[in-house]
Amino acid sequence: MMGTEVSVYLWSDDPDEGQQALEEVFVEAERINRLMSTYIDGSEISEINRVAANGPVAVGEELFRLIQRSLDISVLTHGAFDITYDSVGQHYDFRDRQRPDAATIEVEKKNIDYRYVELDESTSSVAFLKDGVRINLGGIAKGYVVERGVDILRGHGIRHAIVTAGGDSRLLGDRRGRPWMVGIRDPRKEGQVAISVPLADEAISTSGDYERYFDEDGVRYHHIIRPSTGEPAGGVLSATVFGPDAVITDALSTSVFVMGVDKGLTLIATLPDYESIVIDAAGSVFYSDGLQQPTPEDPP
Ligand code: ADP
Ligand code: MG
Repeated sequence: MMGTEVSVYLWSDDPDEGQQALEEVFVEAERINRLMSTYIDGSEISEINRVAANGPVAVGEELFRLIQRSLDISVLTHGAFDITYDSVGQHYDFRDRQRPDAATIEVEKKNIDYRYVELDESTSSVAFLKDGVRINLGGIAKGYVVERGVDILRGHGIRHAIVTAGGDSRLLGDRRGRPWMVGIRDPRKEGQVAISVPLADEAISTSGDYERYFDEDGVRYHHIIRPSTGEPAGGVLSATVFGPDAVITDALSTSVFVMGVDKGLTLIATLPDYESIVIDAAGSVFYSDGLQQPTPEDPP
């Protein structure tokens, strides 16, 4: 679903209830996809992209809120996270190894700026202040899916579960007395885990340059765009963020990827509930302050 794998692991004493809960999560993921996919012509987001430059378009509350949260994160990250990246992003096709040429990037990057997206709370409407602006929620929608998935499981009385969509997971409770162990992929060794993190009742998201990409003449063209240049962000191989809310960890993992090790971890240091692990282009691993490895003077 949503161009990625959605999975659910749960513990239930009642197999029928468990099965029912599981199916509801997939139905919900499909519903959100139909609302938010730019690849579906009839989706609400496609409609916005078609007409919002002509004036305000009324949108459902759910989409309105998620766009609003996206814009808030743009402010927080000084534009590293920006859903208008799609004016350039739409010209990539990673399966067909297609990318925009320099002239296209030059033109389209002028349409990237979250401040071109105007929300009106009183009419629940969205308007674009410039022709050519497009939005895409690919950097935040999967976090929303897993957050909604966990809500559904909770509603069924389930207390131990993991819901994953691509690089985003939300853990419900622990693994019945022990933490869940969540692996961060080795960004250059397919199928291998670089770091395992013990977590309970938390969300964790990883953004990597290995999810959607192609290599050409030694350059990796991947799906995380630096809004200021309109080109794939370099310097980082993967950025992981964990904390209480998967919508936030999803958007922040993309943001930290774009911001790089120093600026990214400086931002995370200002958010007490969130921590981060970044692997840079040399393969070195960096941890946010709250995760500093204990020293001998500092027993575990
Ligand atoms: P994944 O899709 O691997 O979970 P991310 O959460 O980092 O990884 O999301 C990457 C997606 O975010 C891209 O496929 C694209 O849809 C979108 N995106 C790319 N660059 C940006 C950006 N600068 N700001 C917001 N969204 C972005
Ligand atoms: Mg993300």
